[in-house]
Amino acid sequence: MSKEIVPCPSCEGFGWFEDDDGVAQDCDWCAGIGYIYRDADGLDSRIPPADYGVVADQLEQLETQRLRAMGYTGEAKKPWEQAIRKQHDDE
Ligand SMILES: [Zn+2]
Repeated sequence: MSKEIVPCPSCEGFGWFEDDDGVAQDCDWCAGIGYIYRDADGLDSRIPPADYGVVADQLEQLETQRLRAMGYTGEAKKPWEQAIRKQHDDE
């Protein structure tokens, strides 16, 4: 696989940011997932919703590492699982 998954450079893996009024907004760049693809040429692209199920384990590992690095020991929030569930609800 030539694509690497990296934390979104826009929201730094949070999946959201606060706007000027302090309101939480989903990050446009990663669609609230907090992670993006980076290909061999260093080009970033959004992870398409169709891929969430495929990369879920990898995302969970990355998110656990990220939270540990911040000193957080609880469960990862897994926004991609909510997105998968939403897709299934649409069927
Ligand atoms: Zn983002």
